[in-house]
Amino acid sequence: MKFADIGLSDELLSAVTAKGYDTPTAIQAQAIPSVLMMKDIIGVAQTGTGKTASFVLPMIDILAHGRRRAMMPRSLILEPTRELAAQVADEFALYGVNHDLKMALLIGGVQMGDQVKALNEGVDVLIATPGRLMDLFERGKILLTGCDLLVIDEADRMLDMGFIPDIETICSKLPANRQTLLFSATMPPPIKKLADKFLTNPKYIEVARPASTNTQIVQFKVPVASSRGKREVLRELLRTDDVKTAMIFCNRKTTVRDLAKSLKQNGFSVGEIHGDMEQPARIAELERFKNGTINILCCSDVAARGLDVKGVSHVFNFDTPWHPDDYVHRVGRTGRAGATGRAFTLIAPEDQEAIENVEKLTGGKLAVFEVGKGAKEPREDKAPREDKAPREDKPAREPREERAPRAERPKRDGTKPPKAAPRRDVDEGDEAGAWNGPVPGFLGVSAL
Ligand code: AMP
Repeated sequence: MKFADIGLSDELLSAVTAKGYDTPTAIQAQAIPSVLMMKDIIGVAQTGTGKTASFVLPMIDILAHGRRRAMMPRSLILEPTRELAAQVADEFALYGVNHDLKMALLIGGVQMGDQVKALNEGVDVLIATPGRLMDLFERGKILLTGCDLLVIDEADRMLDMGFIPDIETICSKLPANRQTLLFSATMPPPIKKLADKFLTNPKYIEVARPASTNTQIVQFKVPVASSRGKREVLRELLRTDDVKTAMIFCNRKTTVRDLAKSLKQNGFSVGEIHGDMEQPARIAELERFKNGTINILCCSDVAARGLDVKGVSHVFNFDTPWHPDDYVHRVGRTGRAGATGRAFTLIAPEDQEAIENVEKLTGGKLAVFEVGKGAKEPREDKAPREDKAPREDKPAREPREERAPRAERPKRDGTKPPKAAPRRDVDEGDEAGAWNGPVPGFLGVSAL
């Protein structure tokens, strides 16, 4: 099946063709015709399956007819994080080039004034995180009664982040006869309940994990005698392992800063992203990385989730993350879109327990890599899994807008807690998800 066969308008087809796509992915082929027929949808699909375009494309054609009204968005897309919201906005802008549609992005961490101004001018699509939307709604700055199309994206992450009550409230403010599309990587009972309550006779579509999660990411652990020796080992790897672009993850913001400084002093082309930086600075830094001004980005876990930077050849874990899920997300920044990638985790004695937890989650011992000598076979007969995706049965963690401190959160993976309590400078509960916005200085409002 081709895009030309699934009922999209010529204007939209030309935008899709310009992007270089002619064949819809499985979720697109199944969802687009039904969305165009105004059906409700439950899409069980992960990121990487092309699910964003599966709702963005038909929405553009649906919204092509109709009139904008002040304060009353015509459609609403709910995303769990700012970063995902910004990525969806990017896709809207991309595929909507041939349409006169207006979009507003309503996310925390950017000034509300411009967002309110955009709403007052009238928008066809509002892309929002639940917290900021509720905030504006409670201030009476937005009316949801004209919103005939709702997308709840990444519903299981929303659940993990405690957003379901907000979503229920939001759903109850929208017209009852609206069209609702719900996407989730998994369908735990609370999401099923949400769907039963707020969707009408939905079409259920389930697609397999994307091939990109099985791509070739070769992973190693690199023993280091003490944490003091990590910088030297890292520099050696950066110089000798054919590194084109690398993301280096640290557990603490201070480590990110200090490491970036030290690498710069050693002549590397480095930037940094962590939760202490203002949003515009993060955007600018990410842009420098994406456009090749710098080829190394030191980051905290705010950059571990969902960032779609093409061509990252290497991921280094300067520290082993305390939570094994974070390992999976960090490593998943390389090997995207079918490319190969290499991931190295430096293991000082204090990382030992954390790496054991990672190996427990990923299902095998990582191969040992000794600087100057190369890789050794893994000590256990079980081969390390390459690019293990988060477990289906366990909602993945996400930097969220308002999170409880980690100490107050239940353990979700059955692994032992870290010995040392995370210190104050850890990028925990950092309210700003890393931003992947379209342009530096973009203040949350965009016209298509
Ligand atoms: P998503 O699951 O929406 O995060 O999309 C994952 C990636 O697949 C993005 O980089 C998209 O640009 C890409 N993509 C979306 N639709 C298609 C398609 N029909 N063919 C090839 N790649 C696609």
